[in-house]
Amino acid sequence: AKNQGRNRYAFYTSDLTVTAQHRMEMENDMRRGLERNEFILHYQPKQDLASGNLNGVEALVRWQHPQRGLVDPDQFIPLAEETGLIVDLGRRIIDLACAQIADWRHAGLALPRVAINVSGVQLIGTQLVTDLRRALSEHDIPASLLELEITEDFVMNQNREAIHLLELFRDMNIQLAIDDFGTGYSSLAYLKELPLDTLKIDRSFVAGLPGSHHDAAISQTIIVLAHNLGMSVVAEGVETPEQRQLLLEQGCDSVQGYLISAPLPPTQFVTTFLKTVPS
Ligand code: C2E
Ligand code: CA
Ligand code: CA
Ligand code: CA
Repeated sequence: AKNQGRNRYAFYTSDLTVTAQHRMEMENDMRRGLERNEFILHYQPKQDLASGNLNGVEALVRWQHPQRGLVDPDQFIPLAEETGLIVDLGRRIIDLACAQIADWRHAGLALPRVAINVSGVQLIGTQLVTDLRRALSEHDIPASLLELEITEDFVMNQNREAIHLLELFRDMNIQLAIDDFGTGYSSLAYLKELPLDTLKIDRSFVAGLPGSHHDAAISQTIIVLAHNLGMSVVAEGVETPEQRQLLLEQGCDSVQGYLISAPLPPTQFVTTFLKTVPS
């Protein structure tokens, strides 16, 4: 038994060590990946429900890892947030998106607004404003082509500073959307305080449509709430024509999801969704 206890202790310590070591390895790996430009963006279209036209696109990061292949953001964003690397990664993401927008514009393509996901960590301090201003001027693109998707967790701790930051974005003419709306723990009070343009209905509510009365009640309520507050609504994770139909009947503005398209690499996104501006 004594031996066993010892082993158990040894097991736990080595386990903790391995975890810490694994985290450190991953952090170093991410730094290396940043240096070697291994992070890329895929693009998912947003469709206007009434017309069927493309009316937006969301940039979603992926890690093109030399050994592990294409790695999804859920595998590295949380660690990037914990370690603060998200600031450098976030700057890279902004730069990639702005460079892409500039490329598409120079190619004479008609572009909808491009949405970038922003972590709460990036909204502490004014670094993000600096990064955005620099990227916009460097790539010479209008701020009106950008939208930021932020989550409720951030606005939940609505302090003066956070509100001020969002007001800065509004003054810059950058649109703001609340991502995963309805999944956070915040009260609705912040909705009237903040300069928001769009609410995104979380995929978890869309999944039960059209069958679930509860989910239908939630999506309908979010749509009415948004419209009454002068905001537009995007439903994410739309996978079936029946879901799209119900959302259309409920007055939702736009949809996004596999029904329209999965997120695509830039070249594929262009050929499938972008058209040359008629001259
Ligand atoms: P999100 O912002 O809520 O993005 C939606 C996620 O749902 C994406 O996963 C997208 O590929 C996936 N999705 C889209 N349509 C459908 C559908 O019809 N069905 C289903 N089941 N899924 C769908 P992805 O790309 O793996 O991103 C996961 C999360 O990682 C994002 O959730 C976002 O929170 C975060 N993320 C992604 N890119 C970035 C980024 O550039 N910066 C930051 N800070 N976070 C990011
Ligand atoms: Ca998003
Ligand atoms: Ca979501
Ligand atoms: Ca999310």
